[in-house]
Amino acid sequence: MRRIDLIVIHCTASRPDQSISFEKLDKMHQARGWKCCGYHYYITRDGQLHIGRPEEMVGAHARHYNAHSIGICYEGGLDEKGHAADTRTPAQRHAMIALLRSLKEDYPDAEILGHCELEGVHKACPCFLPSIEYQHLQPTTWQEDHK
Ligand SMILES: [Zn+2]
Repeated sequence: MRRIDLIVIHCTASRPDQSISFEKLDKMHQARGWKCCGYHYYITRDGQLHIGRPEEMVGAHARHYNAHSIGICYEGGLDEKGHAADTRTPAQRHAMIALLRSLKEDYPDAEILGHCELEGVHKACPCFLPSIEYQHLQPTTWQEDHK
């Protein structure tokens, strides 16, 4: 297994009236020439967790960070007008925290950050700040540094 010290959260940057099923996302990513969905996990609006690719496989979701990270994406991220917004449904929030808790058991040293929180990234994705929302799940060393 490769070393994982980072979990990166993304959104599809889609509006509430656009539906992006896992199958559709998988096809979109294959159309870019990738083997399969670039994220390891995908959470649709209904809270369903889909496995995009196995954890041991390097993802295709955050340039320069893929080798040592796991990528999670939720369906949404734009409001009706197309503005960046945290549109996670209660079911998505629930699925996300459950997934993060389980990943932390396997990778206790992994930091949890949003795509927008990575150095050199100028995007709104995932339209909320995982470093703050999931502060209690960050590694102990991280929590000490951010006191
Ligand atoms: Zn992203």
